[in-house]
Amino acid sequence: MPRVPTGTPGHMSETRYDAIVVGGGHNGLTAAFYLSRAGLRTLVLERRDVVGGACVTEEIAPGCRASTTSYIASMLRPEVIRDLDLQRHGLRMVPCEPGLQAVFEDGTVLPWWTDHDRTVREWSRVSAADARTFDRIDDRLKRLARYLQPFFLEEPPDVHARRWTRIREGRRVYKRVKGIGGDEITDLAEFLTGSLGDFLDRHFETEKIKRMYLANNVYGMHSPPYRPGTAIGLLFHLLSGGAEEEQGWFGHVIGGMGAITQAMAAAAREQGAEIRTEAPVARILVEDGRTRGVVLEDGTELSSTIVLSNADPKRTFLRLVQPDDLSDEFRGSVAAIKMDGPCAKVNMVLSEAPRWTGMPADADLNRRAFATLVPTLEGAERIYDVAKWGEIPEELWVDCVVASNVDPTLAPPGVHVMTCFVQYVPYRLREGTWDDHRDLLGKRVVDIVGRYAPNAPGAIQAMQVLTPLDLERTYALTEGNIFHGDLNIQQLFFMRPVPGWAHYRTPIAGLYLCGAGVHPGGGVTGAPGYVAAHKVLRDRSGRRARR
Ligand SMILES: Cc1cc2nc3c(=O)[nH]c(=O)nc-3n(C[C@H](O)[C@H](O)[C@H](O)COP(=O)(O)OP(=O)(O)OC[C@H]3O[C@@H](n4cnc5c(N)ncnc54)[C@H](O)[C@@H]3O)c2cc1C
Repeated sequence: MPRVPTGTPGHMSETRYDAIVVGGGHNGLTAAFYLSRAGLRTLVLERRDVVGGACVTEEIAPGCRASTTSYIASMLRPEVIRDLDLQRHGLRMVPCEPGLQAVFEDGTVLPWWTDHDRTVREWSRVSAADARTFDRIDDRLKRLARYLQPFFLEEPPDVHARRWTRIREGRRVYKRVKGIGGDEITDLAEFLTGSLGDFLDRHFETEKIKRMYLANNVYGMHSPPYRPGTAIGLLFHLLSGGAEEEQGWFGHVIGGMGAITQAMAAAAREQGAEIRTEAPVARILVEDGRTRGVVLEDGTELSSTIVLSNADPKRTFLRLVQPDDLSDEFRGSVAAIKMDGPCAKVNMVLSEAPRWTGMPADADLNRRAFATLVPTLEGAERIYDVAKWGEIPEELWVDCVVASNVDPTLAPPGVHVMTCFVQYVPYRLREGTWDDHRDLLGKRVVDIVGRYAPNAPGAIQAMQVLTPLDLERTYALTEGNIFHGDLNIQQLFFMRPVPGWAHYRTPIAGLYLCGAGVHPGGGVTGAPGYVAAHKVLRDRSGRRARR
C-alpha cells in the first residue's frame, strides 16, 4: 500500500489527492475502490473511529458484538461483491431461511421461505385462496422487478437532457423497458402510484398474509401502508441480491454487517486508497464555483479538485458547504427533502435465546433467528398516526433478529445477541427530548417482545437503545433518516436528491454525491457509490478528451 504523508493540523497538507471521499460508509468505500482502481490517488475521510457508517459491527457489551444499525444484507449488488472481491476479503453471508418470518399474537409462526412452492404450501395452512394468489402474483412481481433491476446500477433517466443526449437517454430507457407491454404497464403504474394497503386488500383476504407483505415493505419509510406510492416497495424487495443473484434474497453476514465494510475497506486499500478514521470534515472548500478540497475539524486543509460526499444531502449542502457557495433556491430544495427518520433500533444481549411462542419444536437455529412482530395494516396506520404528531406509540412494529443463532462469533457460548428494528417513531417529539424518553422506548420494545417470547425480558443482560436522535448524533444520519432521505416516490429516480440534480454532480463543479441520498437510494447496496464513481471517471475522461 503506498504511504502518503498525513496532513498537519491547522496547515495545508502538501499532498494533493485526485479525489477525496467525505465519509467511509459502504458507499464511500465502494466509490473509493473504483476510483483507486482507475488510478486516482484517493483519500477517504471518516469522522468516526470505525469505517462503515450505518453498516457496522460494534461491541454492545464486553465480548458481545452486534450489527448496531443495518442488520440484514439483502440488496448488496452482486457486481459490487464481485468487483471488490469481497469474499476474498473475508465476507461470508448465510441465506436467511426463511427470508422473513412473522410471529402472531395467537401463536402462529408463519415463514416466507426462499423456495416459492414451500411458501405456497406453508401459506395454504392459513388460507388456500391467498396461497394461490401468492403463487400467481409472486411471479408477476418478480417479472416487473426485473425491468427495474438494471436501473439500479445506472444513472436515473435524464429528463432534462437536450438534443443528442435526449435521444440517447430515450434509447437507453427504451432498451430497458421494450419488453414491457399490456398488463405489465398497468401493473407498473399501480406499483408506482398505488398504496400497498389497497393492493393487498384487492388481492388477499386474510389479515395474516397481508401482514406478511407489510413486514416485507414500507420498511424504514416515512409512510403508512395506505399512502399512495407505497406499493413500489413490493418491487424493491424483489431485486436480486447475494453472490448468486437470487431475487428476494436475504442474508445474515458472519461477523455482523461490519464485515461487509471491513472487506470493502480492505479492497479499496488494496487498490491504493488511503482511509483515515477520526478525521471529521468541517468544510468543503469552494473557489469560483469549483471545489478545491476540504478542511478537517482540526484545521488541516487537504486539496483535491474532486470531492465526493458520502454524507447525506442535507449534511453536505447545509453544513459542509458554505451558504454563499450555493443559490438560495438550491439550498431551499435541499432543506425541503423529507427526512424525519421514523425508525429506532434496540440491541440486546440475552442470557438465553428468545423462545417464540408457537415456534415449531423442530425449527432449526436459522429459523429461530427471525421474528417479525408486525401489526395489522390498520394497526400500522394507527402507529404511524401517533408518531406523526410527535408521540411515542405504545404499540410498535418490531423486527427481531437473533443473529447469534446463526453466527457464534458474535457472543460467548450460551450468550445471545438480538437486534430489534423499530418503526414508527417520531424524530421530533411533541414534548421533551429523546434523551428524556430513551428508556421509555426501550421498555416498550421489551414489553412487546415479551408478549411473543415470554422468557426474553428476564434474559436481558445489556441493552442499547438507538433513538432517531442517537442515529443522528452517532452515525451522522441527519434527522435520523436511515436512507439519507425518505424513499417516497417523489424522492426517487430523477427526483433524488432533488429535481434537476439527480446525476451525482452538484451545483459546485468537482463536488459529487455518492451516498444513499442519491439514486437508487438507501439500503446496503453499494449502488450509489458504484454509479457515482463511474460518473466521476466518465467526467474526467470527457474533460481530457475535450482538452
Ligand atoms: C437502524 C438502521 C437499520 C437499517 N437496516 C438495514 C438493513 O437491515 N438492510 C439494509 O440493506 N439497510 C439497512 N439500513 C439502511 C442502510 O444501512 C443505509 O441506507 C446505508 O448504510 C447508507 O450507506 P451510505 O454509505 O450511503 O451512508 P452511511 O452509512 O450513512 O455513511 C456515511 C458516512 O459518512 C460519515 N460522515 C458524515 N459526515 C462526515 C464528515 N463531516 N466527515 C467525515 N465523515 C462524515 C459518517 O460517519 C458515515 O460513516 C439500516 C439503517 C439503519 C440506521
